[in-house]
Amino acid sequence: MSEYCHDMRTFPITGRIKRFASVFHDSGFSLFIVGGAVRDFLLGLRNSDLDFTTDACPNDVIALFRTVIPTGIAHGTVTVIFEGEHYEVTTFRSEGEYKDGRRPSSVTFIPSLEEDLKRRDFTINAFAASAISGKIIDNHNGEQDLEDRIIRAIGDPYERFDEDALRIMRAARISGKLNFKIEEQTFNAMKALKEHLGHVSVERIYDELVQLVKSDHPRKGLEYLHESSTLAVILPELAQGDGVLQKGFHHEDVLQHSFTTCQKAADIGSSVYVRLAALFHDIGKISTQEPNGDRFSFHNHEIVGEHLTKTILRRLKASNEEISTVSHLVRHHMFSYTPEMTDSAVRRFIVRVGVEHIKDLFKLRIADQLAIGDRADTALLDEFSKRISSVITSDDALSIKDLAIGGNDLMDLGIPKGKRIGQTLQYLLEAVLDDPGQNTKEQLMKIALAYQELCGFTSD
Ligand code: ATP
Ligand code: MG
Repeated sequence: MSEYCHDMRTFPITGRIKRFASVFHDSGFSLFIVGGAVRDFLLGLRNSDLDFTTDACPNDVIALFRTVIPTGIAHGTVTVIFEGEHYEVTTFRSEGEYKDGRRPSSVTFIPSLEEDLKRRDFTINAFAASAISGKIIDNHNGEQDLEDRIIRAIGDPYERFDEDALRIMRAARISGKLNFKIEEQTFNAMKALKEHLGHVSVERIYDELVQLVKSDHPRKGLEYLHESSTLAVILPELAQGDGVLQKGFHHEDVLQHSFTTCQKAADIGSSVYVRLAALFHDIGKISTQEPNGDRFSFHNHEIVGEHLTKTILRRLKASNEEISTVSHLVRHHMFSYTPEMTDSAVRRFIVRVGVEHIKDLFKLRIADQLAIGDRADTALLDEFSKRISSVITSDDALSIKDLAIGGNDLMDLGIPKGKRIGQTLQYLLEAVLDDPGQNTKEQLMKIALAYQELCGFTSD
């Protein structure tokens, strides 16, 4: 991240944006770039997501351009397609009555940029830049807060969070993105009003949580969520890890270890699945902790953890793919490897984990090891990885569809259609995982017949 720079006072306006803004100006309207793009420009960060704001009403914007999509017209947002680019444009607005930290109950369009900037969440998110000249407007002393690396609510933080409690999550998320501190009064208001998040839709909360986990400094934002007790409102199962000791080679409690593992997963450039799994991987330790000599054991914590991860992600309305992938990684994070492991055991590991999840599972392991001891045993993991690759490239059967025979061949043998076919194919796969040399039609037919006898099958 490059340091804040005093000379960068003018936002760079490309030719296309200037032409776009001219359409507004020629009809007597103004157009500004607002929010994260201006903030990130002042910080020297890349941000290609431009948000525009204007005094033109959505209907005026629709009349000005050939192709306008009414993306969020109730909130004053439309998407204009201009010279092949999509631009999101929102009419200046003030937000009406708020109830219980829910979304605004009404939106009022207003003619003033100043009023629009006042209703934004934080001083560093309330810059505007003219889309013609690039001149930056800073009505809330955001530049000073950028320089001091501080997230500060605009006006009274209690009022801001009372209006929209999602801003509590946003404060933590932006601190994770920028590695900024949250100003003290703003933090106190988070702490005081965290329960209001109970009224905010889980989709909005989850979206901010994912953005935090995807940021460069997730630990920072997670720590703010914990210190303000917001974590107990949104992820009570994880918050309970506070003070759950592990002893042995672990120097942190379960909660701190979860945060550190998530941070390490970010440091090594992991996918969002790995980062979420890192956060939840030891969540099952809280209920499985048992004294064991001078340390603790956590028997089956990965199975309890898989279950809890599913419960949490379902509650947060994550996608089915996120739920199944993240809980699967948690379920398998305890894998072990020694050079003595047989090829057959390597094949079974691949089948259990699934080829498509192995890279992510290894990243989770590395993040976990880095969190425990600041070094990962990559030599052993590299060896395991090589053995896995050699199994995959050898074309050995790893699933039923790789077998030399199929269901129809079994029916030809007189095995009845239905459950028995599936069971027999599974049995054949087990045999082939043990010994890939068995994967010939002739041999599998023999094994299939022997299996029927074993199960007491008689053909008619
Ligand atoms: P990013 O670069 O990560 O997208 P951003 O600041 O642009 O960050 P957005 O969620 O895209 O974040 O929001 C755009 C702008 O809209 C913010 O900068 C802020 O001014 C305003 N904003 C968004 N959400 C809220 C909110 N809940 N309350 C008040 N203002 C908000
Ligand atoms: Mg944005």
